[in-house]
Amino acid sequence: MRRIGIMGGMSWESSLEYYRQINELVQKRMGGLCSARCIMDSVDFGPVALLMEEENWDAISAVLKESARCLSAAGAEIILLATNTMHLLYDDIAAQAGAPMIHIGDSTGQAVREAGVATLGLLGTRFTMEKPFYADRLRSRYGIEVITPGEEERLDLNRIIFEELCRGEFSPDSTGRILHIIGELVERGAQGVALACTELPLVIKQSDVQVPVFDTLTLHCRAAVDAALSPVPA
Ligand code: GLU
Repeated sequence: MRRIGIMGGMSWESSLEYYRQINELVQKRMGGLCSARCIMDSVDFGPVALLMEEENWDAISAVLKESARCLSAAGAEIILLATNTMHLLYDDIAAQAGAPMIHIGDSTGQAVREAGVATLGLLGTRFTMEKPFYADRLRSRYGIEVITPGEEERLDLNRIIFEELCRGEFSPDSTGRILHIIGELVERGAQGVALACTELPLVIKQSDVQVPVFDTLTLHCRAAVDAALSPVPA
């Protein structure tokens, strides 16, 4: 089994879920008391989130490249960047990570394509919804058309993610608001929705939504475990 390295802390609430799901998947696949070989470098999200507000991506990239190198130096053979938003910097980080990385948009895009969903509602931070890096990858590599919520809804979603979910605050009002935003995307033609923020699956479940829900965190964990257990290196 290959050792999985997790760049976590963005937020730690969702990193916990990565650790849990990766171990559950290995246990299920290997049986007995088997568990994942994995290590996590959890960054301090306080300063990183401030840099995000300033859109100082160069400074964030330096923090994340150091984190990836720390994981590969510690023996990680596969690296996960455990946040959708930071995939904005994926190419930069992957080039210097020292071990292969799995792009969260690829694990998502493959699942969406396999499900036959052609028009996908994309939910995430304002960066994930507004910058082209995520939608472009889904479109160019997987032929998926992406639609995003309107401006007011994007701001609301971003506020709920950073001010509530990343702090472990889960309120029925905010969950209701997110479900309403999903409903609007479905009315506009979304045949499925991607929870492209690793905190969203903490509150939104498939049973709450009438179209297929793509949980990017779970899909990312599955891809990592597949690679870790594969006879062929990633
Ligand atoms: N975890 C989130 C994501 O998947 C948002 C927090 C962050 O920006 O890292 O995008």
